[in-house]
Amino acid sequence: MQGTILLVEDEAAIAAFVQTALEREGFAVEVVEDGRQALTCVNRALPDLIILDLMLPGGVDGLEVCRAVRRMPTYVPIIMLTARDEDVDKVVGLELGADDYITKPFNTRELIARVCAVLRLAYSRATTGEPERLRVGRLEIDLTGRTVTVGGQPVDLTPKEFDLLVFLAEHPGRVFGRETLLEKVWGYDYLGDSRTVDVHVQRLRRKLEEDPHHPRYLLTVRSIGYKFAREDVYSG
Ligand code: CA
Repeated sequence: MQGTILLVEDEAAIAAFVQTALEREGFAVEVVEDGRQALTCVNRALPDLIILDLMLPGGVDGLEVCRAVRRMPTYVPIIMLTARDEDVDKVVGLELGADDYITKPFNTRELIARVCAVLRLAYSRATTGEPERLRVGRLEIDLTGRTVTVGGQPVDLTPKEFDLLVFLAEHPGRVFGRETLLEKVWGYDYLGDSRTVDVHVQRLRRKLEEDPHHPRYLLTVRSIGYKFAREDVYSG
């Protein structure tokens, strides 16, 4: 796999170790050590992916960088590095728009697997000539701009909520088990916590469905998993 990765990490030893591992896989890597440099570099170099440490010196931390990058017109995938193993931080990171997170200490195999999974998803959207939008009922999904509207009103989705919605909507009527969805959407073995899928589906329903208790789009298939309703899905 190829691409340019911006690594934002203030600990020189970790930065060097990650850089070496990524370069060995064929990636071009640019390293910066604080949030301000990170934002300058994103604007200048438009990397394919950002690996972003949460705790950074100099007043602009990883979460702020994440927020600022998400306000940019171009979608750049972000993997957060965090030293804290607390669910709250993970959730906050993902809610703010990180595509994935990895907790220190990590091994390079794990990191490379996550990098490749996130990039594969981003590249497949950009290059396979898939339709640019999906429309079903009042729901419209802009696949290239990664935005969703319901009845013309924009809806805020996290990256994983978006990916899950798109995956299901691209296969209307097909039932997927939680494990399959984890593998397809999260792209790696998500340590077996299939409740993650349930949580994301519930959030999507609250955001998209007129009546989340009687969903029209995201349907539960008892004891199996979920499917997107087989209504007419228009693509173009
Ligand atoms: Ca740090």
